[in-house]
Parts: sequence; C-alpha cells; structure tokens
Amino acid sequence: MKYDLIVVGAGPAGSITAKTVAQAGYNVLVLERDAFCRSPCAGYVSSTINIELPETSGVQSKITNMRTYFPDLSFHDQTINGFVADRPVFDKALVTLAETAGAQVRWSSPLLDLTPDGVSFRGGEASATIIAGADGVFSKTASLLGLDKQRVAVCAQYHLKSVEPMAGTSEIFFNADYAPGGYVWIYPTGEDSARVGLGITEAGSRSPHQYLDAFIAESPLAERLAGKKTEYMTGALPIGGLRDQLCFDNVLLVGDSAGMADPVTGAGINSAILAAEAAGNTIIAALEKNDLTLLAQYETKVKRLLARPLGRSLGKRGKLDECCTSNELLQQNLPEMWVTFKEYWQ
Ligand SMILES: Cc1cc2nc3c(=O)[nH]c(=O)nc-3n(C[C@H](O)[C@H](O)[C@H](O)COP(=O)(O)OP(=O)(O)OC[C@H]3O[C@@H](n4cnc5c(N)ncnc54)[C@H](O)[C@@H]3O)c2cc1C
Repeated sequence: MKYDLIVVGAGPAGSITAKTVAQAGYNVLVLERDAFCRSPCAGYVSSTINIELPETSGVQSKITNMRTYFPDLSFHDQTINGFVADRPVFDKALVTLAETAGAQVRWSSPLLDLTPDGVSFRGGEASATIIAGADGVFSKTASLLGLDKQRVAVCAQYHLKSVEPMAGTSEIFFNADYAPGGYVWIYPTGEDSARVGLGITEAGSRSPHQYLDAFIAESPLAERLAGKKTEYMTGALPIGGLRDQLCFDNVLLVGDSAGMADPVTGAGINSAILAAEAAGNTIIAALEKNDLTLLAQYETKVKRLLARPLGRSLGKRGKLDECCTSNELLQQNLPEMWVTFKEYWQ
C-alpha cells in the first residue's frame, strides 16, 4: 500500500502531524524507533498549548509561578500558567489521539533510509506521497537530507522522591559552577517529589551527571533535595535555533528535528505541537489539490509563528554563551537573558 503520509517519530511533533492528517481521512503510517514512548524531559508544558488534551495526559502538578535564582540566590518570581506532565504518559496520550484518528503506528521501527518511493526502516519498506521527519534533535531524516548536525545542550535529570519542592512553582537556578551554559530546574511532580535536572553547553568541563550530583549534594538548595534519586536519564536539546529550510520537495521537518526548541529555555513541546498542526494542515491541502509545491507554505507558516521568538532567544543564547562561565557576569546580565524578566523583552 502507498501511504499518503509517513511520519518518522512518535513524539509530540510526529503524533500531532499524524493525527491532523489522519483525521482528514488520509492513510498515515508513523514509524517509531523505540518500543514505547520514552523521550527524556522535565515535562513542563505551557497552558498555551494549542490542542485539547485527553484526561489521561499524565499531568502531575499545576504550575503558577516561576522562581528564577541569580547566582547570589536572590530571586525573581513571575506568574506563569502551565503544568508538569509525566512525559511518557503525555506522549502516549498523543499517540493514542493519532491512532484514534486512524493513523497506524509501528514501534521498534527506526528509519534507515529515504528511498525514491518512500522510506526503508528496520523490518521493511513503505512508500508514501509525503514524509514528515519528526525524529527529534538527532534526526535521521535531517541527516539523510544532508543537513548539518544541530548545536545541542546536554542534560541530566533525576526524579527525586522524599524531597521538599515548592508547590506550584518551577524553580530555575543559574550558576556557572553547577550549570555552565544552561541552568538547573526543579519541577514539582507531587507534594514530596520533583524532577531535578540541568542542561549545559560545551562550556562545561564535567559531565552533566557530575554537575547534577554536585548540585544535589552541595548547592545552597541541597538540604531540600536530600531525598531518593530515581529515574536517572540523559538527553539533548537543540539550541541553534530554527533551521533555515524546513521543506525539501516532499519531505518536511517538524519539532526538534527542525530546531524548534527555545535556544535558552530549551522548551520545545509547545512549539513542536504548534508546528505539527501547521504541517498537518499544509499536508492536507497538498494532498487535496494533488500539488506538492503547496508544501512550501509550511515553511512560511512556521516562520510566521516561530521565527521571531526563536530568533530573539537565539540572540539571548549568544549573550548567555558570553556570560555562562562567570557568576559575576550572570548576576549582572541575567534579566536580559531570561524570559520572565521585563528586560528580556526590551
Ligand atoms: C532533559 C530534557 C528536558 C526537557 N524539558 C522540557 C520541558 O520541560 N518542556 C519543554 O517544552 N521541552 C522540554 N524539552 C524539550 C522537548 O523534550 C522537545 O523539544 C520535544 O520533545 C520535541 O518534540 P519532538 O516530537 O520534535 O521530538 P521528540 O520528543 O524527541 O520525539 C522524537 C521521536 O522520534 C523518535 N526517533 C528518533 N530517531 C528515529 C528514527 N531513526 N526512526 C524513527 N523514530 C525515531 C524518538 O524515539 C522519539 O520518539 C526537554 C528536553 C530534554 C532533553
């Protein structure tokens, strides 16, 4: 069978692209590398999310405040509106939306190659009119298209149990000694549990694991974090900004594969879902009119939605790179670089 669309990757970008197109009655196949959903993540989702979530989407805590710490531990509070989700449960809920809409999902089926007709993957081949590469930061689709690797921040995280998180507050901690090039996050997942992790750039001289263990053991917040370490994980997120080109004949890139995560905060779920809907609607228009040149409109739509915020953040990323190994510079310049300060927007 020839599919109308093959989606590579069953993360948020892939599932929502697949759901949107399948809902319009087209044949959609999703190829997922892993046997189940397991994307590494802290799980903060802003309530600006543009889809209706099912009740089973893994929400663990509501977040109404973001507390950002300077290196000297003074802090700034900002009202925000979002939630922390258990990412595998959240992703599975989105896969279920795609399946309910009629998409077929093949697990343990990594993309191996793009072929003249479609794709080859572990276990077979399939042909398709259109392909959406939603396979994350180290996208195989992008590499098969000959694109450069993206600049990344590398991350480590624990789910800490028997700790004292601040209810309803996501805590963000900037300090060159613990997270050079990035920051530490503490996101409550319950009354006595929190996801605690960090991301660093190449400015770091130790591994993210070492920085994280040091933070939990000896930072000024250590006392509140002396609990049980569970669910250790590592991951990476793109910090190089939106790729210039998102559409390559009949192949589109969506989500982290296209550099849609914020280069400073690292948040990418909301953007991935926003772009996935745009991708899905553009694909539907191209299939309806049998005109693949219409796919180019996806790039225009995404740039209208994301180029400005991601471009601004990329500029801030440059500044953070300059300051990130000095607590003195971080202390002075943080308001200009972090999204909850008014100086960021000036
Ligand atoms: C430690 C960490 C914490 C984060 N915390 C947050 C947060 O709190 N909030 C937020 O908004 N963002 C966060 N992010 C970023 C967020 O996870 C991503 O921006 C988001 O997942 C992007 O969605 P996606 O669908 O594009 O990619 P992904 O979620 O990465 O999904 C890609 C999918 O493609 C699959 N895949 C990969 N290669 C292949 C292949 N060859 N063939 C088939 N399938 C393949 C993968 O298995 C995966 O299922 C975090 C990232 C990390 C690493």
